[in-house]
Amino acid sequence: MDEIVVVVEHRKEEVREITYQMLWKAHELCQALSHELTAVVISGGEDDLYGDIAERANRVIAVEGKAVKHFDGESYKEILCQLIKERRPFMTLMPHSAYGMDYAPSVSIKTGLPLATDCVDILLEDSHPKVIRQIYTGKIFSKVAFRESDGYLITVREGAFPADKAGKYQGEVIKKDIPSALPEPARQFVGFEESDAGDVDISQAELLVSIGRGIGEKENIEELKGLSELLGGVLSCSRPVVDKNWLPKYHQVGTSGKSVKPKVYLAFGISGAFQHIAGIGGAGTVIAVNKDKKAPIFRVADYGVVDDLFKIADALKEKMRDG
Ligand code: FAD
Repeated sequence: MDEIVVVVEHRKEEVREITYQMLWKAHELCQALSHELTAVVISGGEDDLYGDIAERANRVIAVEGKAVKHFDGESYKEILCQLIKERRPFMTLMPHSAYGMDYAPSVSIKTGLPLATDCVDILLEDSHPKVIRQIYTGKIFSKVAFRESDGYLITVREGAFPADKAGKYQGEVIKKDIPSALPEPARQFVGFEESDAGDVDISQAELLVSIGRGIGEKENIEELKGLSELLGGVLSCSRPVVDKNWLPKYHQVGTSGKSVKPKVYLAFGISGAFQHIAGIGGAGTVIAVNKDKKAPIFRVADYGVVDDLFKIADALKEKMRDG
């Protein structure tokens, strides 16, 4: 069918951001291909999940049942495989999350459809999909082609696309019961154990003041924190700052930290190692302050200041205070 399917990710009765990002990209692809956009929600039947989704898709297929109130990879696989068999979508997008990674490979094996994982972009060349993936811990972007197929499976990395509403939809919600022959779950849901989410979410911040090893010592962080507060931003950092226990891990930007997409990213004393740069691909304007004019960060910065970071931070603070 001329259709792109997006599998909705939700947790604790809330749709997760990655869903909106996949829907944004799926809309773009549907426009280019004149396909329809179908969102699939597998859940215990919480109606609150559908409204927002229906405004971003031609239809919402809501597969409901007590057995899938909580995520179960085996059940998701069975339900999704059945839907793919019935609907034969051109493309199916799943989140590259702990959930998506759990069942996407088995969906590929059961349906025989090719799967590309952890994709940061999806392109169309002569109406054939190709995906962009990062390899060598983000050092290289690779363009990957699929073998010829009736359908394609893709898991999407969080933060790869905007979460904005795209297009005008008022999708019909089509409710379906879970198949009666779902396998007995091999795992049992016990409860949610939240990791230390921290007091800030750098992946959602519109302005980040990011500090690197160039900050010198822990005591200097307050100075840059002050600047970030004056600018109405959030403090983030490179990995050495976390490794030295100067800031908690949830502030870290990069391949082993978080991908961020602020409108403005201010980098103070960050050299610009590829593991760091890989995390700021979604940033709008990048401004770097570094005393080394050859620092690689200047290759990706829109604006660069070759100077002492404390001098620039002080000047900015003064400017903000003076209005
Ligand atoms: P440095 O590279 O030491 O740079 C400090 C900079 O500060 C220098 O350019 C210097 O000129 C400048 N400076 C010093 N003093 C001043 C001053 N007073 N004023 C102005 N400028 C000054 N890194 C990440 O950031 N995020 C990751 O997620 C990440 N993941 C990794 C995963 C793996 C598997 C590996 C191997 C590495 C990873 N790294 C990551 C580490 C990465 O390779 C770099 O080592 C790290 O990004 C460097 O951090 P930095 O730029 O703060 O420090």
